[in-house]
Parts: sequence; structure tokens; C-alpha cells
Amino acid sequence: MNFSLTDDQRLIRDTVRQFMEAEVRPSIRARDREERFASEELRKLGELGCCGMLVPESWGGAGADTISYVLMLEEVARVDAAMAVALSVTNSLAAFPVWKYGTDAQREKYLCRLAHGEVLGAFCLTEPQAGSDAASISTSAVRSGDCYRLNGTKSWVTNGGEAGLYVVFAKTDPAAGAKGTSAFLVEPSFPGFRVARYEDKMGLRTSRSAEITFSDCDVPEGNRLGEESQGLKIALELLSGGRVGIAAQAVGIAQGGLEASVAYARERRAFDKSIGDFQAIQWMLADMQTEIEAARALVHHAAWMRDTGASRMGAYASRAKLYAGEMVNRVAYKAVQIHGSLGYSRESDVERMYRDARVIPIYEGTSEIQRLIIARDLLSAVSGAA
Ligand SMILES: Cc1cc2nc3c(=O)[nH]c(=O)nc-3n(C[C@H](O)[C@H](O)[C@H](O)COP(=O)(O)OP(=O)(O)OC[C@H]3O[C@@H](n4cnc5c(N)ncnc54)[C@H](O)[C@@H]3O)c2cc1C
Repeated sequence: MNFSLTDDQRLIRDTVRQFMEAEVRPSIRARDREERFASEELRKLGELGCCGMLVPESWGGAGADTISYVLMLEEVARVDAAMAVALSVTNSLAAFPVWKYGTDAQREKYLCRLAHGEVLGAFCLTEPQAGSDAASISTSAVRSGDCYRLNGTKSWVTNGGEAGLYVVFAKTDPAAGAKGTSAFLVEPSFPGFRVARYEDKMGLRTSRSAEITFSDCDVPEGNRLGEESQGLKIALELLSGGRVGIAAQAVGIAQGGLEASVAYARERRAFDKSIGDFQAIQWMLADMQTEIEAARALVHHAAWMRDTGASRMGAYASRAKLYAGEMVNRVAYKAVQIHGSLGYSRESDVERMYRDARVIPIYEGTSEIQRLIIARDLLSAVSGAA
């Protein structure tokens, strides 16, 4: 067992860290207040290869391993969690599926542009009446000549209104229930595609979460992703991989919160001492770091499982996402506590991190759904061993 990073992995981590410190950190508080999407910063990260990390070089991607991918997301989230979710969706839920399930024509048309960060990707599964229960979506896709006609509403679409390609799930055979779902590649210029509104969120204020409607939106047959009726299987496979990235986002936010807390504990004085001299503060810092390391180990293990093609990777991704998602909320709570009143002020980074962290146990499958997946895996495994 080797816990050290390769030279390539270290280079990716350090390059992204430098970029985030120099180009993003100085403007993050103002952008959060103004709810300004980081288009320019994301475009530059795309040029560095951060939008198509899981796509082979022959299709314009970085051809990196999943460990490199989670290192990149952790470094981005350490400074700006909203940028990390934009990158996570583009990499795991848009570029990767076009490469994995797409035809060569679809790859030619969409993959290089996604992988180079010229356009962002979006993933449209959730609907106002269907979140955890993804099989109950009602958006329809009815064959009409050489097109599919889409009708329905998708909600909470990350990168909605900013993306150049939307992976959309719709029912081609409603009578077949979960098995009647298919996936489509939809461009925002297709007639009938409309961004209806944006969510007004607690955190991730610079990320876009859109409601998108499809009204007689004709999608060419050549834009169906995978086989007809394979859609839900594709969605669930993608979410398994995507969860490793979301867990890395949690580790990044927590790491950012810890670093800010250590710096503040050294600097802030009370009762003629720095607050870091109080055991109460020391214990919080020690617990924060220990939990972050535990989560990072789960994330790296799940990433390694993904790279080895392990059949039970999904349950490992769920464990990483469950633990990291709940860990980051405990860590962000302590980071605010250590900062005292400053932690409750928009003048501090930990206030934003506290709000940003809250969504992690909710999106890409709630903590409750992760526990279901983990328990199902445990009960179905032959001996209960890994
Ligand atoms: C900021 C943000 C960005 C998002 N981005 C995207 C995106 O890009 N694309 C996309 O498709 N979706 C996106 N989502 C949607 C997200 O994936 C869903 O919100 C999530 O899957 C939960 O669905 P829901 O909100 O409908 O909750 P519900 O499914 O209504 O769940 C409500 C509660 O019931 C619990 N529950 C439900 N079923 C069970 C069960 N079987 N056992 C135990 N408890 C259960 C849940 O855990 C939760 O606590 C995003 C959401 C947010 C907040």
C-alpha cells in the first residue's frame, strides 16, 4: 500500500492551488455578495485541463486518474465551493458520459469543447416532484419523425443558463416505469428549451441552479445518449462516480475552514493569550483535522476503486460522500465557533463555508439515500467483507 502522490498528481494539486490563491481568493467574498458566476475563472481552469480530467487525451481531455480529479476538486473547493460544483458537474456528469456512452459523432461534436472548458455541462434529472425517487420523473420524450419531442420541467440544474450542453433524462416509455427512461444531449439553442428561473439559495450563491422547461423541444435522434430505455442506469452510474467528486468538494471546504481557523487561533487574543492557547480551541482544531483526514482517506480510496473498475465502487463512493458530507458540516460549525462573532460576519470566509457546506448531504443523493446504498451493499455482499 502506497499513500504518496505521484509527481503528476502533486503537479496538478499545486498548479490548481496556485491558481485558486492568485486568481480566485482575492475576489471570492465580493463575488459571493454579488452572486457573480465565475465564468472567466472557470474558463481559465478549463484551459488548464480541469473540465475534462476524466476524458482521454485523444478526445481533448487530460486523461487523468480519479485521484488527480479529486485533488483538483479539493483545491478548488478549499477556496470556492461554487466553482467546484460547476467543475464536478461538467467533468463527471457531462463530459464523462459523452465519452463513455456517446457515439463518435457526439464525441466529435461536444467532447473537445467540454473538455477544453469552452462550454460547461449540466445534468438534468431532478424535477419539482422527483428528487431522490429519480425513477418517478415525468418529463416525456415522444418520437416524432427523426426527433424526440421533449416536454417537462427540470429543477435545480447546476450550471443552468451557463452551460452549452445539457444531459437530460426523460421518459420514452412511461408504462415501463424506471426502465422507460432515456438520456439526451440537449443544446440550449434548441427551440422549446427555456431557463424559467433561478433558485435563491442559502449557499453556493455564485453557482447557478436553474429551473428549465422543455416545451415541444425537438431533439434529433442522433442526440440520444446510449440506447433507448438505458437512461436511468446511465444516471445512476454517473451519480456513483459523481459522488466521489462531491465528497472531495466537502474535504476541500473543510480544509479551507481548518486553515482559516488555525490562522485565527494564532492571531486572536483573549485574557492575555492567543485563543489557540485554550484547550477548548485546541481540541476543536484537533478534531477538525482528524475528521478531514478520515474523509480524505475515504475519498481517495473510492477514487482508487473507480480507477481499478471495482464492481462495488458505488458503495465506496456513497461511504465517502456520506461521511465527508456530514463531516464538513461539523467542521464548518467549529470553524464559525472558533471565529466567534467574526465567524457570523460576511467579512469572514468561514461564514460562507458554513452556508456552502449545508448542501453536501443533500445533493447527488441525500445522506439518507447514501445509507440505503451502503446498507444494501452490506446486506447483499457474500460475507459482508469488502
Ligand atoms: C444546490 C443544488 C444543486 C443541485 N444540482 C442538481 C443538478 O445539477 N441536477 C439534478 O438533476 N439535480 C440537482 N439537485 C437536486 C438534488 O440532487 C436533489 O435535491 C436531491 O436528490 C434530493 O431530492 P429532493 O430535494 O427532491 O428531496 P426528496 O427526495 O423530496 O427528499 C426529502 C427528504 O426525504 C428523504 N428521503 C427520500 N426518500 C427516502 C428514502 N427512501 N428513505 C429515507 N429517506 C428518504 C430525503 O433524504 C430527504 O431528507 C441539486 C440540488 C441542490 C440543492
